[in-house]
Amino acid sequence: MRYPFLRLDRSVLGCSKELEQAASRVIKSGRYLHGPETEGFEQELAELCGGGYAVGVSNGLDALRLIFRAYIESGHLQKGDEIIVPANTYIASILPLMEFGLTPVLVEPDNDDFCLDFGLADKFMGSRTKGVLLVHLYGNPCWNREIITRWKDAGMLIIEDNAQAIAAEAAQDGLHGSRMTGLLGDAAAFSFYPTKNLGGLGDGGAVLTCDKELAMTIKALANYGSDYRYHNIYCGYNCRLDEIQAAFLRVRLRCLSEDTERRRMVAETYSESIYNEAVKTPKIFEDRRQVWHQYPIHTIEPSIRQTLRNYLSDNGIGTDIHYATPPHLQPCMKNLHHKPLPLTESLAEREISLPIANITPDDARIISQYINKFH
Ligand SMILES: *Cc1c(COP(=O)(O)O)cnc(C)c1O
Repeated sequence: MRYPFLRLDRSVLGCSKELEQAASRVIKSGRYLHGPETEGFEQELAELCGGGYAVGVSNGLDALRLIFRAYIESGHLQKGDEIIVPANTYIASILPLMEFGLTPVLVEPDNDDFCLDFGLADKFMGSRTKGVLLVHLYGNPCWNREIITRWKDAGMLIIEDNAQAIAAEAAQDGLHGSRMTGLLGDAAAFSFYPTKNLGGLGDGGAVLTCDKELAMTIKALANYGSDYRYHNIYCGYNCRLDEIQAAFLRVRLRCLSEDTERRRMVAETYSESIYNEAVKTPKIFEDRRQVWHQYPIHTIEPSIRQTLRNYLSDNGIGTDIHYATPPHLQPCMKNLHHKPLPLTESLAEREISLPIANITPDDARIISQYINKFH
């Protein structure tokens, strides 16, 4: 493959010296959990997003689980409450709801930014709705200040799944003044899975919130439910972030802004250069900062997706699909009630993710020419 879809080693090797130094620092320190690397990383993450309290945790799914569990502990949520969630998300957004007996209300996405359709979500609000899980899919900030402020006034919890959108910025201020995703609503989950925009060398995640009490609860829940040594106020979990992973993430955090700029230039180049009418390119929004975790194109017809992928592959261009099967069609969700979701299903049948993680704008121009020549 001349342009593989993803080569994690290429992303990592750019800072291998610093990663080796970080590993060596942790090895020599004798502290492998609960140490200065995790603390330092938490501070740096909060700084990047414009404030709040960050808690480093084991992965993105656990970050979401901890948020929902903490709101159950504080009495804000209980079994049977409805949570609005976009139907086209990755299944990890929905799993914690199932675990805690919360009811996911699946809502179709917006056809331009693939995030929640706010107008539609507004109509799904009922007396049992207690929260909204915003998913900044593909690195698109999902925010509508006017509608969300109204939801907030009605008592809704506004939770962000920021696994794909670290350092993205919404067009309008969030609830706490910052426009950065991760600090828009009440609490946010981050993932540092190796393929994410800020990827570790293994699993990692974080919760960010302006609510100090919530942050303390989550910190305790992630450490067996212990608020101080050998004192357990919750029946908690073990969801901690390793010191060595935190040290790696601090190294990679230093390259994030440069890497995000590169992703944005690659996306712009694709959108300017691709004109084949068999595909629709994603919209570039001038008023927000998209961070392009993926660059998703959609074929007009589902039937040509595989032909186009094969053609690109034959020409040395790797692609992927995000996601081929939406959560409500997964076997584990067969008992889930939902309204018909034709747009979610149609998007899932037509999506192709083009390479973005390891390429330059010049590469994007060449890949675009191949797409334009496809018929
Ligand atoms: C990756 C991802 C998660 C889960 O994060 P992990 O660290 O893999 O557990 C959750 N939600 C979305 C939208 C994701 O992309």
